[in-house]
Amino acid sequence: MACVRLTNLNKHYPGFHAVRDISVDIADGEFVVLVGPSGCGKSTTLRMIAGLEEVTSGDIFIGDRRVNDVAPAKRDVAMVFQNYALYPHMTVRKNLSFGLRMRRTPRPEIESRVAEASAMLGLDALLDRRPKELSGGQRQRVALGRAIVRQPQVFLFDEPLSNLDAKLRSETRTEIAALHRRLGTTMIYVTHDQVEAMTLGDRLVLMRDGVVQQAAPPLEVYHRPANRFVAAFIGSPAMNLFPGGVRGGQFRPDGSTNSVPMPGVADGPAVLGVRPEDLLIDGSGMPLAEGSLYGIEQLGHENLLHLNVGPTPCVVRTPLAPPGEPPARVRLSVGPGAVHLFAADDGGRRL
Ligand code: ATP
Repeated sequence: MACVRLTNLNKHYPGFHAVRDISVDIADGEFVVLVGPSGCGKSTTLRMIAGLEEVTSGDIFIGDRRVNDVAPAKRDVAMVFQNYALYPHMTVRKNLSFGLRMRRTPRPEIESRVAEASAMLGLDALLDRRPKELSGGQRQRVALGRAIVRQPQVFLFDEPLSNLDAKLRSETRTEIAALHRRLGTTMIYVTHDQVEAMTLGDRLVLMRDGVVQQAAPPLEVYHRPANRFVAAFIGSPAMNLFPGGVRGGQFRPDGSTNSVPMPGVADGPAVLGVRPEDLLIDGSGMPLAEGSLYGIEQLGHENLLHLNVGPTPCVVRTPLAPPGEPPARVRLSVGPGAVHLFAADDGGRRL
């Protein structure tokens, strides 16, 4: 097992600066998820850790060893890819044992490690099949098994669930979480899926345009997003963002006659963030605005109400019955502590 330290890591492709000065310390045994929209540089970062991309500048340490110039096979990491990368002509058993055979691991040890991984992932009945005789979920389990038998110091996952359907994705996600609990090995996991990020990570590293926006435990990112981008990226439906202004310690959304207290915040334009579940329709919070209802989605256990507040669309998530049919007028209020305030210009958190 090992910690992983990235210091001032940069990657320049010809004409493109893909990773910008990333510094992250990953503790021994930690499960860190690199998350962000497509093209933000998360795969490039992971591939640099794996040794599959050269580092332009900065350092990568695994344990106390600087690995910038260490060949991928010598880094003691195992990577699981989105497309499984299994050998099509080999059986599952051979796929699992291939890496160990290449390393000339003694045969009895290969057999015991394969048996252990196979039992852990429920592959026993599949050991003599070839990849084309497996479902997508089974193939991904074999890919996981192949990483496990190597007993690496660090596991690296590059969107391993992207090719699976929703149900299998959820099942395999649970398996990966269980694997981490059981093995306790450091894991670094890349995804653009916020549900995977929230449910798997001890800590999220949220990236945008090659820059780390926030590195914190999932619930901290959810409850205290560092900026407007993070606020909008984590959470589904996304956090509502009401443009408006602060005057005399009060924020008033554009198109509303109500305002909410913002003690100590300087006057000026700002954006108020409120999560859909924190917008209340029973009048029990601080009055925020009146909205015009234009859509209702009934999900059984809750309803999503789509409204416009002046020029701003917003979503309310509520267990309560819809307050009327479109275009009903709905009074919205917010609970104390449920508001986030961001700067209008750079989107940084103000309160
Ligand atoms: P995705 O989820 O789509 O894989 P990502 O966050 O993993 O996105 P990367 O694959 O790390 O993104 O790519 C980061 C940026 O670097 C992208 O804009 C991509 O186009 C660019 N990029 C990646 N590989 C190269 C390359 N070989 N040459 C030039 N640009 C590249």
